[in-house]
Amino acid sequence: MDTPSDPRTEELAGRLASLRDRVAAAAASAGRDPAALTVIAVTKTFELDDVRRLAALGVRDMGENRDQEAAAKAAAEPDLRWHFVGQLQRNKARSVAGYAAVVHSVDRPALAEVLDRAGRPLEVFVQVSLDEDPDRGGVAAADLPALADHVAGCEHLRLRGLMGVPPLGSDPDRAYADLAALAERVRRNHPGADALSAGMSADLEAAVRAGATHLRIGTALLGRRPTFLG
Ligand SMILES: *Cc1c(COP(=O)(O)O)cnc(C)c1O
Repeated sequence: MDTPSDPRTEELAGRLASLRDRVAAAAASAGRDPAALTVIAVTKTFELDDVRRLAALGVRDMGENRDQEAAAKAAAEPDLRWHFVGQLQRNKARSVAGYAAVVHSVDRPALAEVLDRAGRPLEVFVQVSLDEDPDRGGVAAADLPALADHVAGCEHLRLRGLMGVPPLGSDPDRAYADLAALAERVRRNHPGADALSAGMSADLEAAVRAGATHLRIGTALLGRRPTFLG
């Protein structure tokens, strides 16, 4: 681990300050309380030292999208809050339940069941498909009510709300408005599902306008990833 004044720490501190300004401005222009917004640093593909640098700068919530990488980082930094945000295979779900505090990508009952069977308390966002493309993950809107009921009925899972990723090339304001409308419907039966995981580096303002509570931010905080690693 480098000293707090190494160049990468300086860079991350600058990016974090800019991001906080941007989030505060987005909240102000949407008439929302910035304290209601949780920024998750999506550290996928970046080294453990970057996680530690961000933690030293006060970031507690870290996001990852691959079990192997997430498990290693979480084992090294178990006191941080780990959010699993990627598409999840059933055979990795038990591992994820071992270190994650929050899973943002539950999109089918079988996945909820494996997570529940791990027996640890876990916060869950149900991921909704906003483009009806099953390859990108997310439950179809038609199957959402049943899945929300299923998650809410799992002993160790706590349904926090919905998560969505705007379709490639779409208007994020429209996509997030659709997501917020679905979330509103879910809340009629599950009033505690009052969180909304929406917003990435390119579109966080649109997400905040639509009521996001959990922003998943990679590039704006850490810089560009090698594109083939998503
Ligand atoms: C990588 C990733 C993010 C972060 O995206 P950026 O555009 O780098 O901010 C957010 N959500 C999910 C599901 C991701 O996989």
